[in-house]
Amino acid sequence: MSSMPGPSCAKILLQVVALAWTLLLTPAAGEQGAQAAKARKNITSLLTRIRHTSSQSYTRVTMELSTEVPYEIHFLKEDASRQLPPRLYVDLLQTRLRMDPTQPIVVQDRLLRQVRVGQFAPGVVRVVLDLRSVSSHRAFLLPDPSRLVVDINAGANGRETAALEKPRGLPPPPKPKVPAPGLRKIVLDPGHGGKDPGAIGVGGVAEKDIVLSLAKKLAKKLKQEMGVKVVLTRQDDTFIPLEDRTAIANAEEADLFVSLHVNASPNANLRGMETYYLDNTNDEASILLAARENGTSRRNISDLQFILSDLTQNSKLEDSVTLAHRIHSSLASHMGQRYGDVKDLGVKKALFYVLVGARMPSVLLEMFFITNKHEGRALAQKAYQDAIVEGLFQGIKKYQESLVVVKNL
Ligand SMILES: [Zn+2]
Repeated sequence: MSSMPGPSCAKILLQVVALAWTLLLTPAAGEQGAQAAKARKNITSLLTRIRHTSSQSYTRVTMELSTEVPYEIHFLKEDASRQLPPRLYVDLLQTRLRMDPTQPIVVQDRLLRQVRVGQFAPGVVRVVLDLRSVSSHRAFLLPDPSRLVVDINAGANGRETAALEKPRGLPPPPKPKVPAPGLRKIVLDPGHGGKDPGAIGVGGVAEKDIVLSLAKKLAKKLKQEMGVKVVLTRQDDTFIPLEDRTAIANAEEADLFVSLHVNASPNANLRGMETYYLDNTNDEASILLAARENGTSRRNISDLQFILSDLTQNSKLEDSVTLAHRIHSSLASHMGQRYGDVKDLGVKKALFYVLVGARMPSVLLEMFFITNKHEGRALAQKAYQDAIVEGLFQGIKKYQESLVVVKNL
């Protein structure tokens, strides 16, 4: 499965650009220099870096750009005569290379051998992904900073091909193992970190420190009392790009992804807790919150609604909604019992980049307002943090119990 992002007008634009490029490849005599100069003039973006995250069944390649550009992505079959493996190539239009093209980026995981990059033509950077076998893929652009993310999966296409190539007359392959009900591994994502402090609250306390502390406490409790494996997207005060956080969860083949945040507002009276799952929304406050957590503008969120809509449909939406309600109600009731009046702002939806592409139920929690005098002070206190952790733990436990019940029906 491949998907090209963007509304149909963007696709038309892409085709126009591609057509312009085809014309560029075959210029009339005497026009070559002028057209090449024009292509150079149209360059709007620089490709500065390519990163990758690998696992047994999943590889994510992230191309860092200075601004968003149109792109094309194509699959090429293995070419034995030229000793070329199956490959994906991505053409970044209006782009110039600002990284070393001489050495391939060696990956050598189960899906991807290496990444090659070159300035294919004056306005086109070509990135070639040399694959191990036929794989499915999908790609999407994220802004601020601009990057094109390509996910390569040992997905259905690869398996289908293998099945088709299987000689006839042999017994059918064994059925895939059905995983045991319940939770095996959870990825906790303490928001922000390093150069990104998140929200700053009363007394100068930073969101990144509060959520790291909460994540560590919760990880310990989940391991000890539920016997599940827990992976943190960051162990310390490190900056991790948003898309890498989901990639970690996918690479770990985690059963849950829980992103931990605390809320903030210029209105110091605002207080309470809210829980989010990934989906489009028209709610202005949720859009503004997502813009803040994504480190992007209000306008970019609107632009992304369409682009991300097919990705959100692919996510485990129903399970994410269930997870959000389980955790939210447990946290609200536990904090209510311990501290009395808790403002319940509800379970909501918004486009948080950190949840895009997650292959497991995923939620983002906004646990109280760091900018509120009472909640901000409390968030820095051990007893209050322990109470939050207990509420989160109970919610995850309830979710697990509901899974076991459903699977046993
Ligand atoms: Zn945050």
